[in-house]
Amino acid sequence: MKIRAAFLGLCLAASAAWADPQRAAQLRDQALTDNTAWQVLESLTTEVGPRPAGSPAAARARDWGVAKLTALGFSNVHVEPFAKRAWLRDAEAGEIIAPFPRKLALLGLGNSVPTGPDGVTAQVVVFASLAELKAAPASCCAGKIVLVNQPMTRTQGIDGYFTAVAARSAAPVASAHGAVAYLVRSISTSTARAPHAGAMQPWKAGERAIPAAALGVPDADLIAHMAMRSPVTVHLALQSHVADTTAWTVSGEMPGSDPKAGTIVIGGHLDSWDPGTGAIDDASGIAITVAAAKLVGATPHRRTIRVVMWGSEETDGSGPAYLAAHRNELDSIFIAGESDLGADMVYGLQLPVGAWNAPDIAPLESVLAPLKVMARPMPPEEAGSDVEEIQGAGVPVFALSQDASHYFDYHHSQDDTLAIIDPERLRQNVAAWAATLSILADTNADFRKVKK
Ligand SMILES: [Zn+2]
Repeated sequence: MKIRAAFLGLCLAASAAWADPQRAAQLRDQALTDNTAWQVLESLTTEVGPRPAGSPAAARARDWGVAKLTALGFSNVHVEPFAKRAWLRDAEAGEIIAPFPRKLALLGLGNSVPTGPDGVTAQVVVFASLAELKAAPASCCAGKIVLVNQPMTRTQGIDGYFTAVAARSAAPVASAHGAVAYLVRSISTSTARAPHAGAMQPWKAGERAIPAAALGVPDADLIAHMAMRSPVTVHLALQSHVADTTAWTVSGEMPGSDPKAGTIVIGGHLDSWDPGTGAIDDASGIAITVAAAKLVGATPHRRTIRVVMWGSEETDGSGPAYLAAHRNELDSIFIAGESDLGADMVYGLQLPVGAWNAPDIAPLESVLAPLKVMARPMPPEEAGSDVEEIQGAGVPVFALSQDASHYFDYHHSQDDTLAIIDPERLRQNVAAWAATLSILADTNADFRKVKK
């Protein structure tokens, strides 16, 4: 075919079918009045609630996922178990002792060690940034509690988070400076007092493990201001335990007409942090991909669309488990993507290199334009942490960029609940996914490098 020469790293399949922009536009418009995503999101957050991997709630989430996919007409609904060493929160408390008593709003960090029954009481040394802690003399903090009070920058994409989140894993730096505990200002763009949970990297052999927790933003600021005037003493009592458990990834499919054309793998993660009900992180990703797949699945389409509810994203595990379980079928995964940045509006689509030049993908730019979704020319560097491993093994990925400028006001906090979901923005998000999926399910372009 004459267009072949125009492609950059792309090849055309032999099939005569072509992606249909009119069908994609119809699905886009249908999604703008469809409430499936809202119903799925409401159901998961209300019926299961918080669901950390390894907790009893995770088993209820597994059963919910199987029942929901089945009820919505998905085929091949099944569960993929994998071993999970889970970190689970127990009783936690913290307070300022001096210069005056005040209870602290805090949450222990995933992979932290407990303080022991008597807790830790020590003076706090405050650093305005992680860089300042790293540059401090090794003797700075012996016997002290280190607080890194670095504010997070609000950005439309995820770069503000990627920059700020390093401080959440800096307990080993504090430990190397002699600290007895580590506190981090919540990785948050809000000034609300609710602390934001999250995991730190597991302790490595040779590191001296110390307890670590995130403080609500105003509490971190208060300690910083106090410390400019006089010594601040804090008491921390953080309990947690680890357990060898099982985690589960749940998936179902909307079968395509051509089994040889490959499978599209999309989804979100079923596990959540414990303070809220995991509405934006990540019931919304599950709801968006389930709703979009159901819409496209109800029309004729060539490739099978598989929706995956990954079972352990927050404390790691489901991405590597998915690669291990699907290593033998990587060449049949046509493309993969994950929705894991909330329920706000999509503003861009990133496809593999050269894809926008494919004759039956190029019209997607016009289909997405009324949604204010840009065709972004650069391919995605990443498309969600649960598809990172299969991406590393050669599976092509796509990414719908979504507005995260308010996401980190609530992420991993007690305010991540259904109350912060805007149904209209959610529908716009599903519309962008549905139109994109429709084109990817039928296109003659092929981005795969892993071939049999
Ligand atoms: Zn997430």
